[in-house]
Amino acid sequence: MTDRPLLLLDVDGPLNPFGARIWRPRGYVTRRVHPANWSARQKPGSRRLRRGLRIRLNPAHGQRLLGLPYELAWATTWMHEANEMIGPVIGLPRDLPVIEFDNLFTEDPDGLYWKTRRVLEWAAGRPFVWVDDMITDLDVRHVAEHHDTAALLLRIDPRRGLREEEFTELERWARAL
Ligand SMILES: [Mg+2]
Repeated sequence: MTDRPLLLLDVDGPLNPFGARIWRPRGYVTRRVHPANWSARQKPGSRRLRRGLRIRLNPAHGQRLLGLPYELAWATTWMHEANEMIGPVIGLPRDLPVIEFDNLFTEDPDGLYWKTRRVLEWAAGRPFVWVDDMITDLDVRHVAEHHDTAALLLRIDPRRGLREEEFTELERWARAL
């Protein structure tokens, strides 16, 4: 453990811009994979399941993320499969810490994003930035009220994924701590 802030990474949205209108945005590669949570939701024997989930990833992102003054961790429905299926494609080590969620997609009683409480618990008072496409103002407010150190929730547009401006913001935020 270091005294660097945490950078908590979602996959779908920030790293895999699933909403992009073009098939393969510049700098991205496509892969077909079979993550367990996705596979479990497909029709058994279906063509879709056979072909796998198509994702877009940017192989330059690993290097960029590793160059930032943060400690990286996964905060994604992919959980441990992020280390197996996402990390190697973008050049991240295969042993990043993983936030384990046992409440995938469940509704929160106060309308928070289902990841939010677990993310806070996992961060355990350490400064963190969380990049995710599903964060709402409610989550931002909740974190501000329940986390004693600095935290930044960066909502990423799933049509674009992580962009230059977010890398700049991440760099700036960590330096300003
Ligand atoms: Mg997402």
